[in-house]
Amino acid sequence: MLSNIRIVLIGTTHPGNIGAVARAMKNMCLEHLYLVRPRHYPSAEATDRASGAHDVLSQARVCESLDEALEGCRMVAGASARTRSVKWTQVTPRQCAQTMLQEAEQGEVAIIFGRESSGLTNAELDRCHLLVHILANEEYSSLNLSQAVQVVAYEIHQGSLDQDGSQPERQDVATAEEMEGLFQHLEQTMEDIGFSDPRQSDKLQRRLRRLFFRARPDQDEINILRGIFSAAQGRKSMK
Ligand code: SAH
Repeated sequence: MLSNIRIVLIGTTHPGNIGAVARAMKNMCLEHLYLVRPRHYPSAEATDRASGAHDVLSQARVCESLDEALEGCRMVAGASARTRSVKWTQVTPRQCAQTMLQEAEQGEVAIIFGRESSGLTNAELDRCHLLVHILANEEYSSLNLSQAVQVVAYEIHQGSLDQDGSQPERQDVATAEEMEGLFQHLEQTMEDIGFSDPRQSDKLQRRLRRLFFRARPDQDEINILRGIFSAAQGRKSMK
């Protein structure tokens, strides 16, 4: 289900990289490119570097926010050149491809890539179920953006050729925006009931995100949790 997989580039500075990503994607049969606040786009340099992948580039969706790019996604992976001190679930490109292909059988998924200079922020990684890291030279592990996309896209394409065609059992899970609603409600509830210690809050929220991403709740489960939060807040319901 390659058509359910989006590649999301955040804050790309060099338009040539955007074109090179379009090309890397088309080589591997991926079509859906999302650009979150690119620095220079559209650009002749992007078009040049896309070479024969103008269709992918011209259909790329430019978004104002990451929320917009992730709308409707049931799973999100973030590609990071660095391993982080916070423990997100970390996978290789091959494992990432397997998970994404399985999920893509049932709905939309996204893989997000960061800025050339500074990568992804922690807040952006907070939106991800998984962190994908390409193991490279420990002293020089940062690949060019389009080459990082190429490695991940190659594994996805290869994985799609290896799939046996059997359909996994259908499981409806919450979308990126429903998960975000849950996290915001949880954080607000913790504050309202006096549970949060502001000094510990970021770390704690990140651990709770990891817990709920691992649990893969569906919409009904999200509603049950949010009902409990509302009750704890002393309200009947909260948007
Ligand atoms: N200097 C940045 C690296 C930016 S490279 C940093 O230290 O984070 C641009 C993007 O390419 C990264 O945000 C990431 O999405 C991807 N990338 C580069 N090297 C990677 C690697 N080894 N593993 C996974 N993604 C990588």
